[in-house]
Amino acid sequence: MPGSTTPSGEIDIVEVRVREIPMKLVRPFETAQGHTAVRRVILVEVVDGDGVTGWSECVAPDTAHYTNETVDTAWPLICDALAPLAAHRPQASVEQLAAELSRAAPTAPMAVAAVEMAARDLDARRRGIPLATVLGGERTEVGAGVVIGLHRSIDSLVDEATDAAARGYRRIKLKIAPGSDARPVAAVREAVGPDVPLAVDGNGSYRLEQAESLVALERHALDMVEQPLPASDFAGSTRLQLLLGTPICLDESIRSAADVVTMHRLDAGRIVNLKPGRVGGHTAALDVHRAAVARALPVWCGGMLETGIGRAHNVALASLPGFSMPGDLSPSDRYWERDIVDPPWHMIDGALQVPLDRPGIGVEVDVELVESMALRRVDVTREASSAGR
Ligand SMILES: [Mg+2]
Repeated sequence: MPGSTTPSGEIDIVEVRVREIPMKLVRPFETAQGHTAVRRVILVEVVDGDGVTGWSECVAPDTAHYTNETVDTAWPLICDALAPLAAHRPQASVEQLAAELSRAAPTAPMAVAAVEMAARDLDARRRGIPLATVLGGERTEVGAGVVIGLHRSIDSLVDEATDAAARGYRRIKLKIAPGSDARPVAAVREAVGPDVPLAVDGNGSYRLEQAESLVALERHALDMVEQPLPASDFAGSTRLQLLLGTPICLDESIRSAADVVTMHRLDAGRIVNLKPGRVGGHTAALDVHRAAVARALPVWCGGMLETGIGRAHNVALASLPGFSMPGDLSPSDRYWERDIVDPPWHMIDGALQVPLDRPGIGVEVDVELVESMALRRVDVTREASSAGR
C-alpha cells in the first residue's frame, strides 16, 4: 500500500493573488467537444506571513464542454469565495483547508483544486521538500505520452503521430469522435507500426448504440478506450466493457474515490485517468489514488493543456506508485512557444524528470512575464481585498 504520503504542515496564508493569462498554443487543439487556439488560464499564487509563496493553476477550460466548470465560472468563485476563505483562515493544515474549500464549493472541484494545490506547493516549499516527496512519490521520472487532437486531414494527423513516435513518446493518444475514428486510427496504426502504444479518447461523445464503431477499433491493438460514453453513464459503460476486450479508461466520470468504487463494482472501466486539477486538488487525488490502488486498477495522470505550473503538479502526483502507465505529460514546447516556468519541462528518453532536488513543485514561475500577460488580476489579502477586475 503506497501510504508514505507525509501529512502537510501548518500553513498560514495571508494573501492570494489571482491572475488570468492567455497562453497561445503552438498549434490549435481539437477534441470531440471543442477547439482551442488560445488557452485562457487562471493562475493562483498563495503567500504566507513570511513571504513564502505557492503556485497552481485552474484547469477549467474556456467553455462548458468538459464539465460544467469554465474559466468564467471559476474566476468569481476563486476571487470572491475560495481566496478569501484561504486568506482569512488562521493557520491550518492543507488537509483542513482542502476540506473547507470543498465544503464552500462542492460542485466546483477545479476552482477548489486551484487554491488547494497552491497551498500544497507553499507547504512543501516552507519545509524545503519536493512536492512529489510530500505526496508519497517514488519515481524519479514519469513516462510521457502525447495527446493528438482531431485533424481534418488524415495526412496531417499521420504527420503529427509519426513525429511524436520519432520523438520517443511512450504512448500516443488520439482524440476520436463518432465519424472520426475508424480511418484516422487505422492510418496512425499503420504509420507508427505495431509496437507504439496507442490509445483513443472519445471525451464522452459516443452513445452505447455506437458501440460497433468502438469494437471495430480493437483490431488496431489499443491500450485503452478512454471515456467513450458521457460521464454519468456508468451503466452504459458496463455494457460497453462487456463488448470490448480493450479496457475502458474513465476520465470525466471519475470525480472522487466513490466513483472509482462504482466503476470497479460495475466493471464500467478498468483504468483510471486521474487529474488533480479536476478532482479538487492533491488531497482529493490521493483519495482517488488510494481507492484505485486498493482495487489493483492502473492509474495514469491526464492533462488539461496546463502551463508548466500545472504540469509540475501533475508530474509530482504521477511519481506515486500505482501510476503505472505514461501520463499526458508532454514537454513545454509541445504546447507553448514560451512556458511561464523556469526551467521549462523537457522530455528525455520519453520521460519527464521529477525535480527531486528542488522544493515544492520544483519550477520557478516567471512572475514578470505573468504580470505582463495578465488580462485581469485580483489580490485578496487578510486585511482587505483589492480588486482589479
Ligand atoms: Mg480524457
